[in-house]
Amino acid sequence: MAYFLKNQTAKGKRPVFLRGSNGNKGAIVGTASLTTTAGTTTHGVMLCPCSVVGYSSPTTYTVDNTNPVLSYVRFGLWDNAFTTTGTATVLNGNSESGNFVGSDSRRFYIRIYDPSATTSTVTVDWYTQSSTGVVDDDGKGPNHTGVDTITLTQSPSNPGLYVSKALMLVADEVDNAQATNTGLSGGSDAAEGAADHRLRRAALGDTMCYAYTPAVTSSGKQTFTEPIFGPAGSPDVVKNLTVQFVKATGGLHNANTVNQTIVNNMAAHVKARYAVAGINVTCKYTDAVDSINVPPSIDLANVIHDSAAPSTGDEAVMIQLLRAKYGAYTTANTTVYVIVIGGFDIRGRSGESYPAYIAGTYPNAVNCCFVTQQNTRPGNIATEPHEIGHVLLERVTADGGPDGMGHYEGLSQEQNLMCAGAGDIATDPNSDTQSKRLWNDPAHNDGVHDYQINYMRLSPLLH
Ligand SMILES: [Zn+2]
Repeated sequence: MAYFLKNQTAKGKRPVFLRGSNGNKGAIVGTASLTTTAGTTTHGVMLCPCSVVGYSSPTTYTVDNTNPVLSYVRFGLWDNAFTTTGTATVLNGNSESGNFVGSDSRRFYIRIYDPSATTSTVTVDWYTQSSTGVVDDDGKGPNHTGVDTITLTQSPSNPGLYVSKALMLVADEVDNAQATNTGLSGGSDAAEGAADHRLRRAALGDTMCYAYTPAVTSSGKQTFTEPIFGPAGSPDVVKNLTVQFVKATGGLHNANTVNQTIVNNMAAHVKARYAVAGINVTCKYTDAVDSINVPPSIDLANVIHDSAAPSTGDEAVMIQLLRAKYGAYTTANTTVYVIVIGGFDIRGRSGESYPAYIAGTYPNAVNCCFVTQQNTRPGNIATEPHEIGHVLLERVTADGGPDGMGHYEGLSQEQNLMCAGAGDIATDPNSDTQSKRLWNDPAHNDGVHDYQINYMRLSPLLH
């Protein structure tokens, strides 16, 4: 293994950060006098390569010195997370293959090589921090009382090599509150805020951090960082989407109490859902400005994506008002508009959307969505990100997904954001088993659309 000094001198016995030619990071934790071609001066001695690594294959759950080093991490997908018979529950067993973190397709591990360590385990601090350097999730739960730790266990085949169990980033507090089995020998559930809870919440733009104190005497704690999603030019670069929320006022059946707080909560939910796809959503809404006033004869609860829609009917009037305010549809306009209606759901619907495939019949409706306001239901229901999902998926035809409407029908469909039934969304609120996941499903692939994340990331609305 070759290592290169990031700083050219060892600065006495102070640790110096290193990055190896294979992506490992590490620290100088001591000094030694060498008599090689480097000369008889004091040089830093590299002792502790520290890395975040991926799996060697999706169904391999052991970690050793052969696992690939990752240059960035991503949010977990919960794509192997649920029981598939009866009421879905989160798989949270002690074995990695039977655990939602241990089997996630985006799981990662922290790996440290410390030949000075003689214990069977070592610990690292693990947390996320914002782009301004403020700790985002310290693992200690909502009170943020310190940084919590993860246990790394010595590899039986590689003395001095310590590896964590699988770890995962999540995008919201509901997910973060899910207890995780520690995965350690004889381990049981660790709640959020306890050591060896295997989740940390993050947002796009955050950095993941871990810190380790090498075993050698007088070593200081070393902190290492990993980007979340890939750098410019990488297939996992962060993409951007703009969503404009608009309040509907007036009209029939208007139970509208939409305000800035309600829309901010809806926007936060949209941002969290699309963070897992590496899509950074900018949500626009100013309560005093972003509204359309609907004539009294227009029924706000009568929006429906029927065969005639949206060239006629109540929704057409609202779309005309929206376009008069925000401009006509053009392919250069990449904004998705979400009209928020109070009382929209009195007829059992909670959202409708008009993806690009309808442009030939009624272009003004393209990229427009109608959703019911979300303050009268538990606040984590996924209607608005679901409707935006239709806009991102159904670009050319309506045939996204097996039902021909962009809906997902593979295993654990009720946990998927593009689940067809609003009823499923409504009856399973505020849970990590609700209809809010996006994933790429090779077992239920209709060609492109069930690779939901990959296909969404190709949308021309992203920039
Ligand atoms: Zn739908």
